[in-house]
Amino acid sequence: MAGILFIISAPSGSGKSTLVNELRKQVSGVDFAVSWTTRAPRGSEENGREYHFTTREEFERMIEAGLFLEYAEVFGKDLYGTPRQALDDALAAGHDLMLDIDVQGAAQVRAKMPEAVGIFVLPPNPNVLRTRLRNRSRAEGVVHEDELFRRLGQARNEIENYRQYGYILVNDVLDRAVAQLEAIVLAERFYRNGEVIAYRSRRVLEVAAACLQANSQERLKPVLEAFGIDGDSGQQKLPFGDDSDDD
Ligand code: ADP
Ligand code: 5GP
Repeated sequence: MAGILFIISAPSGSGKSTLVNELRKQVSGVDFAVSWTTRAPRGSEENGREYHFTTREEFERMIEAGLFLEYAEVFGKDLYGTPRQALDDALAAGHDLMLDIDVQGAAQVRAKMPEAVGIFVLPPNPNVLRTRLRNRSRAEGVVHEDELFRRLGQARNEIENYRQYGYILVNDVLDRAVAQLEAIVLAERFYRNGEVIAYRSRRVLEVAAACLQANSQERLKPVLEAFGIDGDSGQQKLPFGDDSDDD
């Protein structure tokens, strides 16, 4: 494709939808692939905007018809998939494309399109993640404790895959994380397409370089440790069961 394929993954509630929405307000030419899902709409979500909502039967028919670039069962519960059409449309428009997909889907896309740029978003620690998930649920008017538990429980398993991604963002202060995501997109355009990035180009390239996984180990260590993952090996270390709300 003429544009760049970005894959963004994160434990649910880390803030990747928020980051992508902010990015798209500030950087033009980035399309967002609207996925299909069998889960029910949440809060103010609208069919065709956040997701195309459908039944499992219809989703399975779409799999049979080969309509998905990738799909996966997420949280062992619902199916989510990226329509191939999103890629075709971005290609035709000469735009970049952003996929917000889980680690299983990201592995499928990477196998087909190794040139895709992977970005993994981490929350600063489990307590912040829990608070964000809870606040989002409250804002949507309903808190399903079992759903919160399922999403939190899956976080560490997803984080263990961070090494599969070229760039790592820790979404602590929102403005900083948005600026880092913007820098990654502009830097990739600069390196891959030779696109000019004006007077602030040097700073943008520095910010993006600092987010490369290869340059992030020290910054990541405390975050990984907070999730019970060994900061050196990337493997699970301790069960984390701390339920205190100290954030
Ligand atoms: P995801 O798409 O990763 O599941 P969301 O973008 O829905 O996560 O964010 C989860 C919640 O956290 C939302 O209520 C959002 O407003 C909030 N949030 C996102 N980023 C931040 C941040 N940096 N600081 C505080 N709250 C945040
Ligand atoms: P949510 O239900 O919170 O919107 O999303 C749950 C998880 O599903 C997130 O990790 C999100 O990235 C992932 N997801 C959303 N769309 C897709 C998709 O099309 N394919 C895959 N594999 N995962 C998706």
